[in-house]
Amino acid sequence: MEADEARQRLEAERERLVAVKSDFDVEHLTDESEDESLSELSSVDQHQADVGTETFEREKDLSILEQVEAELADVEHALQRLDDGTYGTCEFDNKPIPEERLEALPAARFCVEHQAEAEREAARVRPE
Ligand SMILES: [Zn+2]
Repeated sequence: MEADEARQRLEAERERLVAVKSDFDVEHLTDESEDESLSELSSVDQHQADVGTETFEREKDLSILEQVEAELADVEHALQRLDDGTYGTCEFDNKPIPEERLEALPAARFCVEHQAEAEREAARVRPE
């Protein structure tokens, strides 16, 4: 893949992720102001139940947000590597990442082999 094409795809992806994130922020802010007015009005029991649901919803939201932020970080990292001239190489062994893999995943940081290794590493640090 040409550097120009890679940059275009990465910039489009960055735009998409930023839009998802800002939609998310707007929704989140709206939720928060609703929660406040709600908790002032509700009885204690009702409030407890709401808090349980809200906590669950918020955790779910946070994991989606984390996912989006992680993808965004990868895309920005890939754009940085385009600037550095290191784009398209595995960060582990500096070997070129196969073309098909970059086509499928323009923000790829590792070849398939080392991607699996990096994910095992990450899972060890932060078990799901
Ligand atoms: Zn590698």
